[in-house]
Amino acid sequence: MNLNSLDKILSAHPSFRLTQAKKAVFCDLMEDWDEVTSLPKEIRGALAKDCPLEIDSAMQTSADGQTNKAAITLADGARVETVLMRYAERNTVCVSSQVGCAMGCDYCATGQMGFTRDLTADEMVEQVIFFARILKKENKRVSNVVFMGMGEPFLNYDNVMAAIDAINDKNGLNIGSRHIAISTCGIVEGIKKLADEPKQVSLAISLNAPNDSLRSELMAVNKRYPLKNILRAVDDYIAKTKRKVMFEYLMIAGVNDSIEQAKALAKIMAKPLYMVNLIPYNFTGKYKASSAAQVQKFRDVLVEAGIYTTQRKRFGRGIKAACGQLVAGLG
Ligand code: SF4
Repeated sequence: MNLNSLDKILSAHPSFRLTQAKKAVFCDLMEDWDEVTSLPKEIRGALAKDCPLEIDSAMQTSADGQTNKAAITLADGARVETVLMRYAERNTVCVSSQVGCAMGCDYCATGQMGFTRDLTADEMVEQVIFFARILKKENKRVSNVVFMGMGEPFLNYDNVMAAIDAINDKNGLNIGSRHIAISTCGIVEGIKKLADEPKQVSLAISLNAPNDSLRSELMAVNKRYPLKNILRAVDDYIAKTKRKVMFEYLMIAGVNDSIEQAKALAKIMAKPLYMVNLIPYNFTGKYKASSAAQVQKFRDVLVEAGIYTTQRKRFGRGIKAACGQLVAGLG
């Protein structure tokens, strides 16, 4: 798909033609300009040539049918992965914001592939449209979008914000901003900027360790943005927005899942509107997942300390669609 020249092609026509074309793409989720019969044939022909609606993709589905992962090939041949998670009450698309990632987190397959380029806003919206089209055929819709796929969203800030505007557009995909979340490895400038946005999107921080020494081992970015700075930025964000912040904590056996570490985590998380989400580690080559029993003990410590704690359901492991497993390619 390439919508870059949509405005340009239609600039010579009355403005309602652009409105019709956008409705066809974002609202009616059309896959072929030829079927957009509200537009005259010659406009359809020009759009089919310069703004194709086909999405070049390969999709896998998990054995339980709850997860779909798509590898999308972009106009320059770069590939990104995007995931649909089907919950009983919602359908969440996990969007990639970059091709690869420069952050190099030790537990993450994307980090191990290095950084190629930022995605444009259209390329991020395309990932949502891809699954919106599939769900439409099942009389369902995308209800939530999380920027938790490949890449660090705050290092592609402006394009991510433009993508959110398009995803949020009432005349288009119409996904409410409260149903959109951004997850960061802790880019302080991004947290500060988001605090000043009028958008009501949710913020999540990939934490994964209760202290700087362990966090720096797992996440090189911690050397640049230590915990103290991240938590100060989060406190300012909460003071300005009055919104909850989710701290994600990947449970890695023998690395960050001891009772002492749970107690240390409880200490720094004991603040209003802080929430902890414990995430099962998914194998990417180096570490092992914590046992269910250890996760439960870890969780008990947090809950007893009064920390609001949730546990993320495991999604799409069989097709490498789970957290930290996305790379450019299927298989
Ligand atoms: S966890 Fe996120 S920030 Fe870290 S390397 Fe992976 S994609 Fe990049």
